[in-house]
Amino acid sequence: MPELRQEPLTRRWVIISTERAKRPQDFKPKPIESHTGDCVFCAGNEEKTPPEIWAYRSPGTGRDQPGWWVRTIPNKFPALGIEGEMNERVNGLHKTMNGIGAHEVIVETPKHQVEFFHHPVQQIEEIIRMWRDRYLDLRQDKRLKYIMVFKNEGPEAGASLEHAHSQLVALPLLPKAIEEEIEGLKMHLKATNRCLFCDMVYQEGEDGTRLVAESDTMLAFCPYASRFPFETWIVPKRHEPDFGLISENEVHDLGTTLREVLVKFSMVLGSPPYNLLLHSTPVNVHIGVSYHWHIEILPRLTKTAGLEFGTDIFINPTPPEVAAESLRRYH
Ligand SMILES: [Zn+2]
Ligand SMILES: [Zn+2]
Ligand SMILES: [Zn+2]
Repeated sequence: MPELRQEPLTRRWVIISTERAKRPQDFKPKPIESHTGDCVFCAGNEEKTPPEIWAYRSPGTGRDQPGWWVRTIPNKFPALGIEGEMNERVNGLHKTMNGIGAHEVIVETPKHQVEFFHHPVQQIEEIIRMWRDRYLDLRQDKRLKYIMVFKNEGPEAGASLEHAHSQLVALPLLPKAIEEEIEGLKMHLKATNRCLFCDMVYQEGEDGTRLVAESDTMLAFCPYASRFPFETWIVPKRHEPDFGLISENEVHDLGTTLREVLVKFSMVLGSPPYNLLLHSTPVNVHIGVSYHWHIEILPRLTKTAGLEFGTDIFINPTPPEVAAESLRRYH
């Protein structure tokens, strides 16, 4: 059973993974697995993965059989496990709880395909619906407080299998990064009586210098204080805390906008490694402010090093205005 330990100084939570327990010799770099024939995510190899949680599949096809087009399975090396009690405990300075939660993999296509932007828009819409369905299902577990969908693209961004997939993690606590966003939203609400994300959408839309792409319901822009070169956020124009309540129009627009941004990345940067994070309001907990769901895409073109770790201040060599301008040029 993995353990969640809280660092008493900064109150940051760390998952101490027991399942993955690595010895010093395990840290030698390994090449990314790219064999088409024995890829465990390809259709036909269903028995090589843990049993399916949920899949969109043709009528008449059975669980863990081919016939699916988006398939969710448990992570083979889960950071957290769904069984057991939280058993929160304190020993002197040390606060610990059992690593209760979920860690799932969403296989985005039955074909061996690597790049997200190669999916047709309808397929991206189905992937977004799967993200939503898993989010709505897992939140019924009242022990869980935060659910995040994310994607690691490329080995430099943490991917270990090249077949297109995203992941979902469900946590029994509020991560510090989300507490900080909630704090920012509360301060802005107190000062202006408005939602910070709604104001961001308005200001970036009016200003236009950091705009990357726009659809009826979505705005993509490089944030004013981007941490990473070409960092891009996609924010729905409609105020909605809860990604689980995304409308069908928004599913379509998010699919189109997400694909457009990633096509632009590939044109300008040549398919860079990136991390994609989907932030939605916490579940089963009252946060005292109305959240606004959004996506953050963080290209991994620079290394996070001493300055960033020591001060949480990032050096970004590409002004977001310059990044947005070059991304806008391709459409
Ligand atoms: Zn494959
Ligand atoms: Zn809002
Ligand atoms: Zn966020």
